[in-house]
Amino acid sequence: MAAVETVLAHFRAELDQLQAQSLVRHERALDTPQGIWVGVKGGGDRVLNLCANNYLGLANDPRLLAAAREALDRHGFGMASVRFICGTNAVHRQLEQRVSRYLRTEDAILFPSCFDANAGLFEALLGEEDAIVSDSLNHASIIDGIRLSKARRYRYANNDPASLDMALEQAAGARTILVVTDGVFSMDGIVANLPALCTVAEKHGALVMVDDSHAVGFVGEGGRGTPALHGVEGRVHLLTGTFGKALGGASGGYVSGAKELVAWLRQRARPYLFSNALMPAICAATLVALDIAESDEALRGNLAARTRQLRQGLVALGFRLSGVDHPIVPVMIGDAARAAALASALGECGVFVTAFSYPVVPRDQARIRLQVSAAHSSDDIAFALDAFAEAGRASGALPPARR
Ligand SMILES: *Cc1c(COP(=O)(O)O)cnc(C)c1O
Repeated sequence: MAAVETVLAHFRAELDQLQAQSLVRHERALDTPQGIWVGVKGGGDRVLNLCANNYLGLANDPRLLAAAREALDRHGFGMASVRFICGTNAVHRQLEQRVSRYLRTEDAILFPSCFDANAGLFEALLGEEDAIVSDSLNHASIIDGIRLSKARRYRYANNDPASLDMALEQAAGARTILVVTDGVFSMDGIVANLPALCTVAEKHGALVMVDDSHAVGFVGEGGRGTPALHGVEGRVHLLTGTFGKALGGASGGYVSGAKELVAWLRQRARPYLFSNALMPAICAATLVALDIAESDEALRGNLAARTRQLRQGLVALGFRLSGVDHPIVPVMIGDAARAAALASALGECGVFVTAFSYPVVPRDQARIRLQVSAAHSSDDIAFALDAFAEAGRASGALPPARR
């Protein structure tokens, strides 16, 4: 029996089916550093990037590069160890303390990524006597992390306090109850209604955890994220976030909160115990990113202004958007093939975007998710809007121009 052949034939058929439904994702390689204008292999030497998580424009910032280079010379390339064996450099602890000082929490613990932070946290902190109540649109890493925990699991409708209230009724009796939400829902550009969610959680004696990956560094006062935006910093008990987006965009994640919780994660979180320590050069550059995020109000001001310019311009052209104010600007198209056609027509106009379709978003809710950066100029956004007008008509996403 050629068992392997059968397996491979199965996946060939599956891939063919995706292809037929326009659901295959293709990766395009950049041949420049990440930035506002990038070179895309086979897609232009200089195209406007509107799909990076580079919210503060720090991914190739000279100050971060200098800090990383200096750290390479001082601390070397890799740690070749997990933290508790011989993988802790002073810069790791420095970054943990810097993160908690920035977020005004007691302590923080680093992870190789925020995916790992979310994968490790629930299993370590919550057992079978406990319950987790999770938003239906939470990030994949939260969903996976919850699956690894023995706690009872409940789900509530996206960002809906009444639905959370009902889920918490069902969870009653559990020893510890943790409500979990993304601070920003990344496919929709919607900020979680933390004041209402916290109030419901408090009514049931539940703790609250927020994954602020799409907010830390640029949302709320000082860029401290969605709890700061909503004035609920003291009512959120655990925060997770990434260094892979606004804060330089390399990699790494954290959990931040009370010192007892962080101390326990250091003993029990499996991605912390069993995965390699962050590269010291990343930690050193992330420290600089945090200084910039904390102090540079002009950067956040430009991000907000460019976001308004893009959102207003797209609405004026006739596109339907999701979310308000957040630099994630989803242009709702519906049909996956049509979204793909618009993305490719935009590429021909010199704008680099990505279409999102099932299973990343629900079927028939395909969209182009734009992301604004503080490093975009108003000319850059005007260029993008011209391209959307032209590509929108060329691809059929907008009605043809009247003559
Ligand atoms: C991007 C993202 C993550 C994953 O972060 P990484 O550090 O890249 O693993 C986790 N949660 C949310 C909400 C995210 O948007």
